[in-house]
Amino acid sequence: MIGLADLRNVTVSVTDRCNLRCAWCFKSSGGSPASAGLAEDEVRRVIDRIKPFAHTVTFTGGEPFVRRDIMSLLGYAASSLPRVTVTTNGVMVQDHQIPLLASYRVVMSVSLDGGEEFHDRLRGEGTYQAALRVVEALVDAGVEVNLQTTISAANLGQVDYLLGLAQTLGVHGINFMRMRALGRGVKFRSLVMSSDQVEGLARRICQAQERSDGPRVVLKDPLINTIRPKMVRMAEDQPHAISGGCRAGISYVYVDTDGGVQPCPYLKLQVGHVLDDDLEALWLNSPVLLNLRRRSQYQKCEPCGFWPICRGCRADAYHATGSYLGPDPGCWR
Ligand code: SF4
Ligand code: SF4
Repeated sequence: MIGLADLRNVTVSVTDRCNLRCAWCFKSSGGSPASAGLAEDEVRRVIDRIKPFAHTVTFTGGEPFVRRDIMSLLGYAASSLPRVTVTTNGVMVQDHQIPLLASYRVVMSVSLDGGEEFHDRLRGEGTYQAALRVVEALVDAGVEVNLQTTISAANLGQVDYLLGLAQTLGVHGINFMRMRALGRGVKFRSLVMSSDQVEGLARRICQAQERSDGPRVVLKDPLINTIRPKMVRMAEDQPHAISGGCRAGISYVYVDTDGGVQPCPYLKLQVGHVLDDDLEALWLNSPVLLNLRRRSQYQKCEPCGFWPICRGCRADAYHATGSYLGPDPGCWR
């Protein structure tokens, strides 16, 4: 039985504004009109609401650093919750902000999509060098930095380069995730990875994870659990308990720029409003969130032995089939 204490991770989109116009941005951020997001006092109220149970809050956007009050918000979040993360393209982070980020112990997730030529083609000229400069300065200041890479068929071949770059930069980790045909990404539908490509990537990442030195390598994809012997054993030992996999509605919700609560940023099903609704009631009673926890509601995943540790990407299932309980197109099983 999932309770409020299980809601450990909350991501809050603090703006749809952005200094860049990245080609496959899933939110089409930076276009116009772009929502500036909740007011500073409202974001603080969100923090107040989640702090009794959440462990990690992630600020995302858009580009969070376009907000003038971003350091004040990060400081407030850091004084309220054990872990604060912010996703950024890095370009707008100012030198004078870096010591403060270090003192708040904020974790920086900096987007990097490949080598300079590829990254700049996607995000704009000069953005690769700008991001690298900021990463180096953050690492020097002792800030925990994770590179954040969105992978499509176009940059699958750059994974090894990125793993090497993470090592050279001395970052804490590198996170990979699937590119999705959402927002401006709709135009790049043909580049969304096939299930064979998801499998190949998962196996490559597992291999990289076997190295004990260097950055922590993560594939944010539930399917990777199906090739991890330890996770597979967990599924066999406890076939009816959720012990990993897609965390949407299991240990996680997303708060969109207007305050709407969704199971995940990519699963655009609003289940309530973070300031207008009782979060505990939402978490415990939302039919969408309840369905995500009920094996009997799943289609292809229901009879699958990997259900406790996987359940596929519910957002990709939704966009491919119209049902968030349908089959994940990335599943190779
Ligand atoms: S059927 Fe579902 S649970 Fe099984 S491996 Fe595929 S996505 Fe995972
Ligand atoms: S729906 Fe997909 S992107 Fe969202 S938490 Fe689940 S696996 Fe991750």
